[in-house]
Amino acid sequence: MDTNNHKNLPKPIYGESPVFQMAVLQLLEVAEVIGLDQNILERLSKPKRAMVVSVPIRMDNGKTHTFIGYRVQHSLTSGPSKGGIRYHPSVDIGEVAALAMWMTWKCAIMNLPFGGAKGGIACDPDKLSMGEKERMTRRFTEEILPIIGPRMDVPAPDLGTDEQTMAWIMDTYSMSVGYACPEIVTGKPIELGGCIGRREATGRGVVYCIMQALQEIGVSAGNATAVVQGYGNVGAVTCQELAMRGVKVIAISDRYGAITNPEGIDIAALNKHMADGKLLKEFPGGREADANEILTMPCTVLVPAALERQITENNAAQLKCRILAEGANGPTTPEADKILADSDIFIIPDILCNAGGVTVSYFEWVQDMAQFFWDEAQVNQKLEQLMLKAFHQVRTVAKESKLSMRLAGMSLAVKKVAQEKKRRGLYP
Ligand code: NAD
Repeated sequence: MDTNNHKNLPKPIYGESPVFQMAVLQLLEVAEVIGLDQNILERLSKPKRAMVVSVPIRMDNGKTHTFIGYRVQHSLTSGPSKGGIRYHPSVDIGEVAALAMWMTWKCAIMNLPFGGAKGGIACDPDKLSMGEKERMTRRFTEEILPIIGPRMDVPAPDLGTDEQTMAWIMDTYSMSVGYACPEIVTGKPIELGGCIGRREATGRGVVYCIMQALQEIGVSAGNATAVVQGYGNVGAVTCQELAMRGVKVIAISDRYGAITNPEGIDIAALNKHMADGKLLKEFPGGREADANEILTMPCTVLVPAALERQITENNAAQLKCRILAEGANGPTTPEADKILADSDIFIIPDILCNAGGVTVSYFEWVQDMAQFFWDEAQVNQKLEQLMLKAFHQVRTVAKESKLSMRLAGMSLAVKKVAQEKKRRGLYP
């Protein structure tokens, strides 16, 4: 589909962002496949609400610096909106709007009572001190206060943010309303009402999907190899869970470099190495490699678990994996998707593959609302059950309607939200 030709693409603010264009193109494609009502398409192709805020803070050197922060809510049709907060230099309104739209589809695929949202601040968190990060997070929370709330919009961690960030947001919000309000965020520390297993949930969900896909292609875990891009929350847990099941992780990259080891990287030893503050690329249990080249290494499973737009028209034809498991959001461009459609690579699309995070976020929100907490076995068992159900629903639609897994997942999700919108009608 040609981006410039499509009259439905919203132009200003969101439209200029390649990531947002990518999200809209995916929606347009699925709209055509399912014959989506044009009026619903019109509403779904733009976020419901977006807020851009200045976040001025006092830096450690005494100077003031103003960061720009965003919160975008794509849909509140199915319930409060839900989505992570990202700290990364590339964050802009279009990227956040795209991520918010993907969150809507993800919540719909998993049948969660949420719409999609996303937020972020354009900054390099690695260059900020803890104090600077805390002041930035608290001021950002204060600025977006009018549009967040446990029944309105519930943030969570994403790239560059973690449990501590969520604790600061929870505290700032609670101070503002005058009582402890754990249900304002998910992905919090356990002692503040966080859910056991939330930190590992996205990676675990990725691996539950990979195990199903391995069965589909008839390869056992013991005979499978994996290449993982990104070694943060999603990438590291994915590696750990794969290794536990006997899959050999033969290459890993992060923003500083990459390593390979055809015999399989010792993940426990790598974790210890990283915990000592050393770089992944310096790990003695592997050979240093080029971070871009590992994407095209022969392997059974390729897991992009870092940034969007990593599999593009430039490298898609060179992929030598059997399964592409999208741990990251939006790692494959629509152009690359077209190239991959002609290959026999089994794609587990992001809106399904990494939905474990928002699923356990939902469990956390439910537990906080009820003030009744589950144990880890309950969390993991329920997560696996919901992930497998979603995987097989998407797979069935893909097979029956002869669609790609991405289009099948999107069609299920868009149909669900469209139906809800139709039932609720258009206010006023
Ligand atoms: P994170 O900040 O914990 O880790 C990101 C990792 O990517 C780091 O290891 C970083 O070094 C690496 N990285 C950055 N740039 C890179 C590059 N150019 N090449 C290779 N590696 C690079 O973030 P995360 O929470 O693991 O999120 C990763 C992806 O997964 C994002 O797309 C995010 O939106 C998505 N996601 C995260 C969650 C979650 O629960 N954390 C849930 C769903 C989706």
